[in-house]
Amino acid sequence: MSRISVLSARWLVTIRPRGEVLQNHSVVMQNQKIKKILPSSEARIEFPEAIETRLEDHVLLPGLINMHTHSPMTLFRGYADDMDMQDWLQDRIWPAENKHVCGLFVADGTRLAIAEMLRAGTTCFNEQYFFPEVIAEVVRESGIRATIGIPVLEMPTVWSSSASDCLTKAETMVASKSGSDRLSYALAPHAPYSVGDNSFRRIAQLSEAWNLPVHLHLLETAYDVTQSVAEFSERPLQRLQRLGLLNQRLLAVHMTQLEKSDIDLLSRQGVHVVHCPKSNLKLASGFCPVGALLDAGINVSIGTDGAASNNKLDLLAEAQMAALLAKGRSGKATAVDAFSLLEMLTINAAKALGQGELLGSIEPGKWADLIAINLAAPETQPVHNVVSQIAYAVASSQVSDVWVAGEHLLQNRQLTRMDIVDVLRRAEDWRIRISSAAGERSQ
Ligand SMILES: [Zn+2]
Repeated sequence: MSRISVLSARWLVTIRPRGEVLQNHSVVMQNQKIKKILPSSEARIEFPEAIETRLEDHVLLPGLINMHTHSPMTLFRGYADDMDMQDWLQDRIWPAENKHVCGLFVADGTRLAIAEMLRAGTTCFNEQYFFPEVIAEVVRESGIRATIGIPVLEMPTVWSSSASDCLTKAETMVASKSGSDRLSYALAPHAPYSVGDNSFRRIAQLSEAWNLPVHLHLLETAYDVTQSVAEFSERPLQRLQRLGLLNQRLLAVHMTQLEKSDIDLLSRQGVHVVHCPKSNLKLASGFCPVGALLDAGINVSIGTDGAASNNKLDLLAEAQMAALLAKGRSGKATAVDAFSLLEMLTINAAKALGQGELLGSIEPGKWADLIAINLAAPETQPVHNVVSQIAYAVASSQVSDVWVAGEHLLQNRQLTRMDIVDVLRRAEDWRIRISSAAGERSQ
């Protein structure tokens, strides 16, 4: 029988059953999964041989899931700020990508992103960037969990010559069954304005045949709507419905340009919405009406977007921003409550990825993806309500420990598998390369 280990915490927020908070309970892990949840006093009697980790001042949560990011873009963090979306993309980001992005850039940037995400309590991320095969390799080496989006764009990129080239690569990657317990794939068309009708039709067919999520930037800014109406004489959601994309496999990222009829349509079709509040604010893209989406029964989760438009991959900070924004925009302090926020970071995200039976809550039979947050800091005392403390007060630097499939990847703030000195040295090398290519003085 494989080794049993026990995590005993002051508080346990299990997410399911909904609203449950346990005190002085233990999570028993075996074979990478959660075996049992029981009072710590009983766990010591029932599993006397097990290795017990005592988390006296901590709350234990399911690992957080970042539902939208472009990991390698950590290397462009702070490279292009304070610009409007299309200027930011066309004048700064796309030229820099064409110049620098290669397999090595993607590997080094992904390592930096994973180090940052693990230290902030993220155990799984939904990725969309070039060289997905390299990202998959770094994910395997790091031990984190991920769904790797295989990008699709009509225009030539550093990784592909056309959308059909992207789809050929996708077929090869998926057919090679190079996924694993911690790695799965999605199709990731960039946006309605960069992917044509024929490619979208093919994506809809492949998504159904392979049962893969479709990870798409959608209704990010007003430009998406004007461009679609000008070129196709229909709004993006109507176009996607015509092409067979509006269904329960679609992960619609951003969604700031929604009308009431759009919300009804999304609800009917079971589309999942991914909210990226900080990126939308920083690029002045617009506002995603999260409260109205939740009221309509739509499954909403949260993503950071890439570090070039955020500039952090910090889901706890992202969620705090999401709550305040929803309240302020709707004029209703009840628009999003603290527990709903934690659901968006965990179980809602797991469902959107099609992995609701395996991830997103602390329940027997699910993967042992767990994080511990130390609340013994002035900023999070006293603890009247542990859920509220996580939603509104905790900083990601209070995440002390992270387990993915029972493997201890962050131990008392130290990464156990990754060489952080090497990761940071490589990031600095890229800063020098990028700034000297842009003709900027190296600092
Ligand atoms: Zn994005």
